[in-house]
Amino acid sequence: MSLEQLDELYREVILDHFRSPRHHEVVEPADVKTSGLNPLCGDELQMQLRLNGGRILAIGVQSKGCSISQASGSMLAERLQGKTLEEAERLVHVIKQMMHGAPSSPEDDLGDLESLAGVRKFPVRIKCALLGWTTLEEGLKQLKEKD
Ligand code: ZN
Repeated sequence: MSLEQLDELYREVILDHFRSPRHHEVVEPADVKTSGLNPLCGDELQMQLRLNGGRILAIGVQSKGCSISQASGSMLAERLQGKTLEEAERLVHVIKQMMHGAPSSPEDDLGDLESLAGVRKFPVRIKCALLGWTTLEEGLKQLKEKD
């Protein structure tokens, strides 16, 4: 798949995040550090969260690999900065559902994240789009085990 095959609107949003990734600085110190790998495509992603009272005070995402995985990580970071862990958990669920074909509901108000739905046409790239989200899920799980 090349980005040319994506609908134009989706492509522009994805390219924008790919070219200027949001929150890509390493957050240090961090309460959660997690990383993910998508060996199918060679994507790698690192994530840090600094928390305060159940809220994500700062998030850092650094990724290497294809444009889809990098753009998705950037969208995730932009979306979750300042949000609560419950909101993060809910959004992971919504995005996973969406990538597996469930229609999103208007109250999810996905904004840029909606563009990831365009990737569904290319099943081999779904894992790229989900890498940041599964990495975040892993980080949230670590946090629960610590408590
Ligand atoms: Zn990829």
